[in-house]
Amino acid sequence: MTCNECGHVRICDREALIHHRTRHRAGLDWASVRASLPCWNAGCGSKHTRVEALPFSQDRVELRRKRAETILMNLALSVLHAASYREKDVPIATPDVRLALRVLYPYLRDETHLRSYWAAAVAPRDHAWDSCHRPYEAIVAALLKCGLTVDAELR
Ligand SMILES: [Zn+2]
Repeated sequence: MTCNECGHVRICDREALIHHRTRHRAGLDWASVRASLPCWNAGCGSKHTRVEALPFSQDRVELRRKRAETILMNLALSVLHAASYREKDVPIATPDVRLALRVLYPYLRDETHLRSYWAAAVAPRDHAWDSCHRPYEAIVAALLKCGLTVDAELR
């Protein structure tokens, strides 16, 4: 982030920024982040800033590989996330969900939470609150613990 008024440059950690904005109920979409970050230079606080994302590496092949990997992981998570909100009488244990769980395995290298998600998915849901939310949250927490980049809206 570069301040257009005092020229102060600050590099913010993505995870720290998401955490901070979630706590303060500020928007997480990139457009609102770009539009609302104030200058952190003491005594300036100008809202006239320029926000750019820094790539984590300069190696283009590595960047492409990492980007493809992150997109695939978040796509699988979005399937599980949406499935956990299915109506009581709509089955969760469908092929798309099974595929998403398989896609996530290489990222986690541990079946525990994936198996609990599937177990919840195949279990009869007698109540509207019987769903896969808890195993879903455990999967997200485990991915974050592995240092992977989970989209903010999927947490
Ligand atoms: Zn400034």
